Amino acid sequence: MKKQQFKVAVFNGDGIGPEIMAPTIEVLQRFAARAKTFSLSFESLPAGALWHEKTGDCLPRESIAAAKTADAILLSAMGLPHIRKPDGTEMVPQIDLRMELDLFAGVRPVFTFENGPQILSDPRAAKLDFVLVRESTEGLFAHKDEGVVVDDQYATEQLRITRKVSEQLFDFSFRLAQSRAKLLNRPAKLMCVDKANVFRSFWFFREIFEQRAAHFSDVEASAMYVDAVAMKMVQSPWELDVLVTENMFGDILSDLGAGIMGSLGLAPSADIGLDHAVFQPCHGSAPDIAGKGLANPMAMILSAAMMLEWLGEKHLCNEAAESGSQLRQAATQAAGLPEGRGYDVGGTAGTESIAQAVMDALS
Ligand code: NAD
Repeated sequence: MKKQQFKVAVFNGDGIGPEIMAPTIEVLQRFAARAKTFSLSFESLPAGALWHEKTGDCLPRESIAAAKTADAILLSAMGLPHIRKPDGTEMVPQIDLRMELDLFAGVRPVFTFENGPQILSDPRAAKLDFVLVRESTEGLFAHKDEGVVVDDQYATEQLRITRKVSEQLFDFSFRLAQSRAKLLNRPAKLMCVDKANVFRSFWFFREIFEQRAAHFSDVEASAMYVDAVAMKMVQSPWELDVLVTENMFGDILSDLGAGIMGSLGLAPSADIGLDHAVFQPCHGSAPDIAGKGLANPMAMILSAAMMLEWLGEKHLCNEAAESGSQLRQAATQAAGLPEGRGYDVGGTAGTESIAQAVMDALS
């Protein structure tokens, strides 16, 4: 039987990026070597703050073009705080890529690990499992290079919400709520997170949400203001299921989600569009620990598991989907062991030891 061939574009990134990407590719190669129905090939593409320092370009057109021909994209993290544009902001090729590829749905699962870190003391927080969907191409990031400071007296930025992207985002999120309900055998729920009490743009966002909700009558649709959701994520996160929100709110809430998981080093994500998808951890390039062997590769490995599941689903390849699920289980199991517990969660395991713990759990 002919194997399905999946080409994966790889952005090794800045800071700890290459350190967490290397063991992730190793794990993926292990799956590919034993798979009967699919194969994986990897192509490294240049981009990032260091690449900008070398060449004056943080995201070459050639890299974007090559990424567009890939079946999936793996990205570690990009950006370095000391490499900035003349206006003071940083290079953010990871955000530019989301916009280039129309990756409107940033899927950020928030869950707890068996025997893993327990940040919230309430016993009901021992088994958290909810998902934040962050719109990733517009909102407050849409005009990110156009902010102005006028006469050194005030600064102004623009926020954009469009009907087209919001409808795509909500439809994606309603379908995610439906599939989770089926998988977890419970009612489907989706909450719109906004600030519709104050901003016209968010009332527009909410109206579109309610219009799309009418097409998904089996999903319980609700809405909450973002400040109240931030408190709920700390006080009663076990009541949450699927949340959908604007770009900036999603950016902030996903770090809060990573916080209640135990560390940014544990929180995976996927940026999904109609044609392409990028899989990357929620965290940044962590320059404070780069080159020390301390980076936790778990979020990167879990993002790779999401990639296999997504490839399997998209291309109707059961083995790829099952491999993704096996990898997720192995990683969550390893995270609960001393050899899989990184410094960021109070353990003593470095990058290599954690990656090895995942490999051991796999075999
Ligand atoms: P960060 O996520 O890089 O680091 C925040 C803290 O979490 C640091 O103390 C870091 O050591 C720790 N941390 C992060 N990932 C870890 C891991 N895998 N294992 C162990 N500890 C980990 O955020 P920051 O310091 O605000 O940003 C650093 C750089 O990354 C900046 O240049 C920023 O622009 C960039 N950034 C990139 C992305 C991305 O590529 N998606 C996201 C956020 C920040």
